[in-house]
Amino acid sequence: MCGIVGYIGQNEAAPVLIQGLKKLEYRGYDSAGIAVYHDGIQVVKTKGRLADLDAKVKEMGGVKGGMGIGHTRWATHGAPSDVNSHPHSSMNGRISVVHNGIIENYLQLKAELETKGYVFQSETDTEVIAQLFDYYYNGDMVDTLIQVIGRVRGSYALGILCQDKPDEMVAVRKDSPLLVGIGKQENFIASDIPALLEYTKEYYLLNDNEIVVLKKDGITILDMDKNEIKKDIYHVDWDISAAEKGGYDYFMMKEIMEQPEAIKKTISPRMVDGNIRLDDIQYTEQDIKDINRIHIIACGSAWHAGIVGKYVIEEYARIPVEVDLASEFRYRNPILHKNDVCIIISQSGETADTLAALREAKRQGIRILSIVNVVGSSIARESDDVLYTWAGPEIAVATTKGYSTQISLMYLLALKFGHVRGYVSDDKLQTLVTELQQIPAYMEKLFKNEAQWKALAKTYAFANDVFVLGRGIDYAVAMEGSLKLKEISYIHSEAYAAGELKHGTISLIEDGTLVIAIATQDALYEKLVSNVKEVKARGAKVIAIAKEGNTEIAEVADTVIYIPKIHDAFTASLNIIPMQIFSYYVAVERGCDVDMPRNLAKSVTVE
Ligand code: GLU
Repeated sequence: MCGIVGYIGQNEAAPVLIQGLKKLEYRGYDSAGIAVYHDGIQVVKTKGRLADLDAKVKEMGGVKGGMGIGHTRWATHGAPSDVNSHPHSSMNGRISVVHNGIIENYLQLKAELETKGYVFQSETDTEVIAQLFDYYYNGDMVDTLIQVIGRVRGSYALGILCQDKPDEMVAVRKDSPLLVGIGKQENFIASDIPALLEYTKEYYLLNDNEIVVLKKDGITILDMDKNEIKKDIYHVDWDISAAEKGGYDYFMMKEIMEQPEAIKKTISPRMVDGNIRLDDIQYTEQDIKDINRIHIIACGSAWHAGIVGKYVIEEYARIPVEVDLASEFRYRNPILHKNDVCIIISQSGETADTLAALREAKRQGIRILSIVNVVGSSIARESDDVLYTWAGPEIAVATTKGYSTQISLMYLLALKFGHVRGYVSDDKLQTLVTELQQIPAYMEKLFKNEAQWKALAKTYAFANDVFVLGRGIDYAVAMEGSLKLKEISYIHSEAYAAGELKHGTISLIEDGTLVIAIATQDALYEKLVSNVKEVKARGAKVIAIAKEGNTEIAEVADTVIYIPKIHDAFTASLNIIPMQIFSYYVAVERGCDVDMPRNLAKSVTVE
């Protein structure tokens, strides 16, 4: 998500901020802005790329001052626009704030501040921070920040300036990145190392709710009781391109590793006291009860996420679901009923086929609920309701965190709709929600097996054909896993519903053919074991993916990858991880450009 930079020192702040933001533009680029102190705070911000901000600042003849904060935005609340750009200021202009993250209780805080006479300009969650800071401000930035932190819920990295403080800024983080760069007679804050590499290679890392007071000649880090914390200095020796990728060789691996965080950001604000709250969509209980049928419409991996959605929504909400490829839906003559709902899934929110399908459904008067990652994108704007995935910018062409956050929202919809419609009891909801919240931790646990998958990728990197088998939700994941392999490693791969194999495809299995068998559905496990036996009997090499404890499969498969024991409904979130990492290393082994596979583009805005 957004990139933040802060500077205080003997040089002009604006060029340092803009230069730093350029290096963070991969984190978001729908708008940008800076606030610089010189006889008061001057804010310059604009919708669009950083180049637009740079041009605006140059047109003004530059912005003077040796202290400032800057921001490049990836909108979560409020479409990209001049007024929604950061920095945000308090109503009286006294406070200026840049923020990365989401303030979950901003509506409550906003309503409260409005009763005290505060007037808001933007649609962002961030503006409440500026106003709240102003409200509590007592002349001491640290005291005020502690009060503000006590009131907000959510994730934040913040850089804050105050009109009364010409030589000090404060910063803090929780669940969003922020580090402190150490210079000589100058100091910095930034969301990520690349922003600072040109100026310093020494920095402090911050833990949640550690408060930084940044001055030209000193950095003080305090806990919430104002005790000073001594920190180790870190030294970085990456080159700039490695730094943008957080030390990874490719964005895809960085994004794979970001999945636990992205899922947390997507689901936690929507879970309150063990209940699911979808406050961002306008569905009443009656609306949910009245749904006749759901049509999920998407392309590529988003379509695979839709297939996971079909399984879980039909299972828990008992609503019939059809999953359509957008490019097919728009040209056939779909039968739609006035109480049907279309769920449109697209990471970029600009996918041309999906947008056209949306318009077709809308023309027929069907209510549109979209699941989109980019705020203010065309699909988001044209939908009746939007549920955003908060995955942050996805750079690699092959989606990972985009897909994972989409399926997380499928779970939330299935459970919420099922609960309202009376198919999921309070107890069952509690159990499932508790399990759902474990997904990020289970993913982290799985990452520890990366070396095993890397070794497997080396063994099978030059396979000619791969068949990926699964039943039920595992079949949906087989499709996504198979697509990952195809798109980045160019190996011919096919996903098959394991029960369907014997109706034709098994004729393609010969000595040494690689079969990946996903066997994580408890009710279908034995059937899958039988399918593995069938392909083994024909000479296949089999990598199986199974739940911990299900060891029988080890007797028939050549290798087994175990995932933590999780409820059948949520296995898709875990068994896709080894598939992504295996595909990644196969591609690396074959010398492919992982982030930019041939013939593909990230956001497909043509038919
Ligand atoms: N929630 C803030 C906004 O929408 C910050 C966004 C972010 O960090 O991604 O402006």
